[in-house]
Amino acid sequence: MITFKDVTKTYPDGTTALKDVNFDVREGELLALIGPSGCGKTTTMKMINRLIEPTEGLIEIHNKDIKEYNIHELRWNIGYVLQEIALFPHMTIEENIAVVPEMKKWKKKDLSARIDELMHMVGLDPDKHRKRKPSELSGGQQQRVGVIRALAADPEIILMDEPFSALDPISREQLQKDIRSLQQEIKKTIVFVTHDMDEALALGDRICLMKEGEIVQLDTPQNLVLNPVNSFVEDFIGSRKTPWQTAVDVIMEQSGDAVYSVDDYESGRVPTHGMFHLRKSDGTNGGAVIDGRREVVPELDNGMVLKDAVALFEKHKYDSLPVVRGNKLIGTLSYKDIVLFLKSQSKEEEV
Ligand code: ADP
Ligand code: MG
Repeated sequence: MITFKDVTKTYPDGTTALKDVNFDVREGELLALIGPSGCGKTTTMKMINRLIEPTEGLIEIHNKDIKEYNIHELRWNIGYVLQEIALFPHMTIEENIAVVPEMKKWKKKDLSARIDELMHMVGLDPDKHRKRKPSELSGGQQQRVGVIRALAADPEIILMDEPFSALDPISREQLQKDIRSLQQEIKKTIVFVTHDMDEALALGDRICLMKEGEIVQLDTPQNLVLNPVNSFVEDFIGSRKTPWQTAVDVIMEQSGDAVYSVDDYESGRVPTHGMFHLRKSDGTNGGAVIDGRREVVPELDNGMVLKDAVALFEKHKYDSLPVVRGNKLIGTLSYKDIVLFLKSQSKEEEV
């Protein structure tokens, strides 16, 4: 949906920030851009809404050169969240959220309902907070307003440049959770810059790892972790605080080997030994089958970290549990998968 074709950016002082970069952001995905400071993340981001123009190459949105769009329409259709909380200090929270919808001439009534909806989405009570000034909110709350302000006019694309890096770890974790669940509902195309691998793994549908203006590996979190293309990627993955914070969907089994349909179960076309899971025809979890008996077992939310998953496995003693996203069964995870993964991730001396 957003396509970079042979894009190079050289700043007037001669610094080449991007070198002949090619990639595609897919509709509805969250692409996490990650890499060391100075590798060109912000430059990449700002070229999407034309705050920076490429020196060479082409950027397209929906297969159309972004230069062919009216610049105001282009920017209204792209929400932008910055690292530094950039709310207008003299305006109330509701006025801050209303900026772009008002430029788009939304009706007052629609706008008011939208503000309520957005504030609820990120756990801010509209009655309590609408009329406040930014300075009357905590840093975490202000950044939440920054996020919903970018969403307010329902843009197709959202750019987030290290939006949580100025926050304390608790607000940061809460906002990551918010973004994850928001994204499951709204399915926007999001480009999310971070220098934190834990954050990239937790949020990205795909991760684009950059170094010195070039893409080193653009891949799913699973592939990045399990099949790094070189030692730079390996080191970056290794920079995580701990593999125990990896989300279950990063290492879950997606092949469906351990999943049968409820139909297959009801007509007896399933093994009578071992443990596997059932999927209903609407894609939801249909429970587990253990040695031929159908049972209800706990579900792992796709964003749950391994530390919490292990605690569940230890409590319930099942060999394998279903992984769900929203209400869909998306994979399975066994205790053994976790052990093998943690073993592969631990430093030599710890084994
Ligand atoms: P990141 O966001 O990954 O930290 P940037 O995209 O901000 O990286 O910067 C990439 C490179 O371009 C860096 O070497 C940076 O110093 C340089 N750079 C960024 N903006 C400018 C500018 N306006 N003029 C000259 N060099 C710049
Ligand atoms: Mg930057």
